[in-house]
Amino acid sequence: MNPPAILIIEDNEQNLYLMRFLLEQHGYRVLTAMDGREGIELALQAHPAVILLDIQLPSMDGYAVARELRTHAELRATPIVAVTSYAMPGDREKCLAAGATDYIEKPIDPDAFVGQIRAHLPDICATGDTREEGTHP
Ligand code: MN
Repeated sequence: MNPPAILIIEDNEQNLYLMRFLLEQHGYRVLTAMDGREGIELALQAHPAVILLDIQLPSMDGYAVARELRTHAELRATPIVAVTSYAMPGDREKCLAAGATDYIEKPIDPDAFVGQIRAHLPDICATGDTREEGTHP
């Protein structure tokens, strides 16, 4: 069975490298695109389990990318996590209004990042640490 694919749309190589590294370390398959147009095409081809979307992208910003992703029926339910370094009041709302499911701020926190993404994957897709803690003591 293929591990779930996560698509990262990000034009900054260092951020892309860090996010890819952290996700692959936890067993996820990572697809990357460095601009919005390429990201949309890849999303339509690959149907990733989650899309991580940088907001500051060249030519087509993340808001426009999110809006376009949502026009495709097959991507309407795909979680989109906006990743932005703008920490301005109202940014979160702007991302959500454009179609994002969630929002995380840069810089990426390496200790929290995978958990923040995993929250958007169905349980059956969780890989890496498969140990379940019992709910009964
Ligand atoms: Mn960027």
